[in-house]
Amino acid sequence: MASKGSHRVKTSIATVSISGTLDEKLEAIAAAGYDGIELFEQDFIAFDGSPSDFRRRVQDHGLEISMFQPLRDFEGLPEPLRAKAFDRAEHKFDLMQALGTDLMGICSSVHPAALGGIDRAAADFHELGERAAARGLRVGYEALSWGRYVNDHRDAWEIVRRADHECIGLILDSFHTLSRKIDPNTIRSIPGDKICYVQLADAPAFDMDVLYWSRHFRNMPGEGDLACTDFMRAVMATGYDGPISLEIFNDQFRGGCTGQVALDGYRSIIATMDDVRQAEPTIQVDLPPIPPRVKAAGVAYIEFATQDEEAREMEGLLGTLGFEKAGTHASKAATLWQQGEVRIILNEETTGHAGTAFEKCGTTICDIGFAVADAKAAMERVIALGSKPFDSEKGPGSADIPAVLGPTNSVLHFIDDSAGLARIWEKEFGVKTAAKGAGITHIDHHNQTVSHDNMLSWVLFYTSTFDMVKSPMIDVFDPDGLVRSQVVESPGGGLKVTLNGADSNRTLAGRFLSRSFGASVQHLALATDDIFTTAEALIKRGFEPLPMPENYYDDLSARFDFPTGLVKRMQERGILYDRDMDGAFFQLYSRTFARGMFFEIVQRDPRYAGFGAANAPFRIAAQKRAQIAKG
Ligand code: MG
Ligand code: MG
Repeated sequence: MASKGSHRVKTSIATVSISGTLDEKLEAIAAAGYDGIELFEQDFIAFDGSPSDFRRRVQDHGLEISMFQPLRDFEGLPEPLRAKAFDRAEHKFDLMQALGTDLMGICSSVHPAALGGIDRAAADFHELGERAAARGLRVGYEALSWGRYVNDHRDAWEIVRRADHECIGLILDSFHTLSRKIDPNTIRSIPGDKICYVQLADAPAFDMDVLYWSRHFRNMPGEGDLACTDFMRAVMATGYDGPISLEIFNDQFRGGCTGQVALDGYRSIIATMDDVRQAEPTIQVDLPPIPPRVKAAGVAYIEFATQDEEAREMEGLLGTLGFEKAGTHASKAATLWQQGEVRIILNEETTGHAGTAFEKCGTTICDIGFAVADAKAAMERVIALGSKPFDSEKGPGSADIPAVLGPTNSVLHFIDDSAGLARIWEKEFGVKTAAKGAGITHIDHHNQTVSHDNMLSWVLFYTSTFDMVKSPMIDVFDPDGLVRSQVVESPGGGLKVTLNGADSNRTLAGRFLSRSFGASVQHLALATDDIFTTAEALIKRGFEPLPMPENYYDDLSARFDFPTGLVKRMQERGILYDRDMDGAFFQLYSRTFARGMFFEIVQRDPRYAGFGAANAPFRIAAQKRAQIAKG
């Protein structure tokens, strides 16, 4: 893949970034597509075998050790500590030769006895360079953002420059540069051949002690708020062509799903490097061409796995929501329910993906079909970013709808207006025209409830696959715990997703999560242009709105100025209200069904940017009350 004169993207991940035994880690790292690992000594020490056994284990997985970090607090020490530091280095050099790796990483010292001085540190590294050269090894020096004297890559570079040794290079770490708000463009004046290693990490924008922030909250590029792409642009502009490695200390990842975290990391490197190439086309990045982020128009269809009496209940519920059965699948036990542009498939197959989903947790959403501008390009992009195609079975009846395995083993389809896909509903379900129903026009947004660690996976998946941006994370209060919520949205709002991260099994979201499947869609918000007319039509069909308490409406009257009679009209129909600086938002909720799912009907002023978050605690309390009442 590497072409002459261009930069080869070599990917790596620190073994401390993911959870599991060494073999689990190596397997996940290799499966995700990385070239190498960055070895922290603790992972070697915990290994029950010789260095050559370890080396073989790594090679068996087709990986290499791209860097080894066994040494701290090396430079600037007075004697006799200085001599001891060199002895330690020699000992680790022995180990590196046995492990078959040639690059040692050393971070700037935090030793209480260390002395300052650029020249003193440079002299230490010159001597270390001589010793490394004798063995054919190299050493990289990295500024920790909390280093005692050196906490800025510019000072680390000055030390490396003055050390003036071919075996001494500079290690750059996006976290250390960006967490201290150092302009990454200062990297552009460093010669690329003196940079021997680059570590990439993002982090959420927290205002906290930088050491604690680094050790617990780093995350994959694109999952946090640091300018990782700007950092990599500057690095690549120097002509750097070494490994790009993830060094991610994160409490959730250490306890998270090994394979998912490894895959997220790979996706984040490739997406970042593709962004570098897009942002600065003169920089050569050696990656095969990848289609740009996919333009998403919205959700084309939602598929429920359901069976037997639960399927009849679903049909009943969809009927009260104004949906009509638009067609029956030619060969599968599946029906299509339609209203406006909303398509819901009820899949009653007892085998295959839907069968598995139902068996695992009863009626559940087992597939999301995204309406995109170009389904083929979408597929190419997600595959290039590390996803696996899902082809063990067809989409809703058709061989032609491209599908992928998304995060948390979800199945996702891409559908566009191309010749093969536009007529799929007619071809598979015999559908010609959409029912008008109760005035529901399209899906406003869908909500996924996932665990806290999977929330980052989904944010990264959406923002790296689609042209979508993420909102800041907010906290939603359930009477029994805290739920974290984040929105990802396409420009213009065609595709809007609210993601909830839940841990406590006692929250409504957490209870749902413990019994959910795949993307774990918990609610679908259906749009109408006139919520009062729609509400009346639904109630006529037997729809039971979620009852809201009188206190809620008293509070609304106190908070907003309403025209006479409006609050009463909302109260009579169970309609909720929110507004921001620019527009209003009306919501109507169903009661929960199928172990905690629900529908929401919304009327959105196009200028309103939110999702009614202010109402969430009252909605959750009302849903819990309704569940208890139902028994
Ligand atoms: Mg580092
Ligand atoms: Mg909602």
